[in-house]
Amino acid sequence: MTSSARPFLNRRLAEFGTTVFAEMSALAVKTGAINLGQGFPDTDGPEEIREAAVRALRDGRGNQYPPGPGVPELRTAVAAHQQRHYGLSYDPDTEVLVTAGATEAIAASLLALLEPGDEVIALEPYYDSYAACIAMAGGTRVPVTLHPHEGAFRLDLDELRDAVTDRTRLLLLNTPHNPTGTVLTRAELAAVAELALERDLLVVTDEVYEHLVFDTAEHVPLASFPGMRERTVTISSAGKTYSFTGWKVGWITAPPALVTAVRSAKQYLTYVASGPFQYAVAEALALPDSYLSGFRADMETRRNLLVSGLAEAGFDVYRPAGTYFVTTDIRPLGESDGFAFCRDLPERAGVVAIPNAVFYDHREAGAPFVRFAFCKRTSVLEEAVRRLKTLGG
Ligand SMILES: *Cc1c(COP(=O)(O)O)cnc(C)c1O
Repeated sequence: MTSSARPFLNRRLAEFGTTVFAEMSALAVKTGAINLGQGFPDTDGPEEIREAAVRALRDGRGNQYPPGPGVPELRTAVAAHQQRHYGLSYDPDTEVLVTAGATEAIAASLLALLEPGDEVIALEPYYDSYAACIAMAGGTRVPVTLHPHEGAFRLDLDELRDAVTDRTRLLLLNTPHNPTGTVLTRAELAAVAELALERDLLVVTDEVYEHLVFDTAEHVPLASFPGMRERTVTISSAGKTYSFTGWKVGWITAPPALVTAVRSAKQYLTYVASGPFQYAVAEALALPDSYLSGFRADMETRRNLLVSGLAEAGFDVYRPAGTYFVTTDIRPLGESDGFAFCRDLPERAGVVAIPNAVFYDHREAGAPFVRFAFCKRTSVLEEAVRRLKTLGG
C-alpha cells in the first residue's frame, strides 16, 4: 500500500481527529462571539505568584532542566497541601511526582499502568483527553453514564458495579466532575472505594477542581478512604486552583511503587517541564486558606450569575456543585441537537458553547446538553446572558 492510500493518523487515534474546542474557538474568533466554550479564566491568578515566577526566572531557578520528579520545593509543598487539607501524608521524595499539568499526569498514568486490552471505567460524559489517552495506552474504555436526576447528573452505583469485568484494571474518576459540575458525595465515594477493594482495581482520580466546590458540597479525595491510599493515583494541578492554566504545572500523589511506574512513562513524554513556574506554584500552595475561600466565593458568584441568566434565557440548568462549568438542556428552547445548536449559536446570539455529546460514547445520551464556562469576568458573563436572552424571541 502506498503512503497516500494509507491515512497518516493511525487507527488508535483515528476517532480523535481534532477537538471540538479548536472548531468552536475558531468560530468565536471568526464571528467575534463571547467564548464560553473552553475553560480558562480571562484574568490571571494572584499577582504575588506571578511575581514569584518572575523572581525564579531572574534568579536562574528552573531555567535549566529541573529534577525529573520535580523541584524539591514544589514536592514538599504538594505533600504539605495534602496533609493540611485532607490529613493525607505523602513523602515528598518518593510519593509525589510533578508533571506537565494534569494532562501529562493522566497520560503518563494510563501509559504506565495499562496493558493492551485492559478495560478502564470512566464516568461519561468524560474529560476529552481520557478517551484518547486510554486509546494511546491500548486500553479499552468502558463508560459509565451519569444520569440527570433531580437537577444534577448522578452516578448509578449499580451500573458502575455491573461495568466491572475480569478485564477491568482501572477506574478513572473525576470529581468535581467536568463537564457536569457533579461532586461525588462521601457515600458515593465510599461505595466506589468498596468496589475497588473488592475487585482489586487501581484508581486514577482527577481532582483538578478540588478547591472549586460550592454551597454545601465538599471535596473528599478517594485516597482518604480505608485501603485506598495503596491503590490510588491522585492527580491535581495549579492551573484551575490558581488561575494559571498556561503554566502547566500538575502533580500526582501515590505510594512509591505507583509513582515509580508513572515516572517511567512520564520521563519519556516531557521528561520535565515548567521549571521556573514550579517554584512559583510551590509558593501558591502555601498561600493562606483565605486565598482559597476568596477564590471559591468569587467563582460561586459567577456561577450564580450564569446559572440564573441561562435559566432566564429559557435553558434547563443543572446547577453545578463544583468546577468552572454549567451544563444546560436546550430542549425547552425547542432544540434537541446540541451540535447543531452550538454551531449556530455564534451567529444567532454571539456566544460560543460546547455540545456535551463530544464527551460521550453514547452520543444520543448527550445530545440535548450544552456546556457553558463561567470562569470569566462578570461583565463578560453579563453580556453573554444579555445576548442569550434574545434566543427565545
Ligand atoms: C483542565 C482539566 C485538566 C487539565 O489540567 P492541566 O493542568 O491544564 O493539564 C484535567 N482534567 C480536567 C477534568 C480538567 O478540567
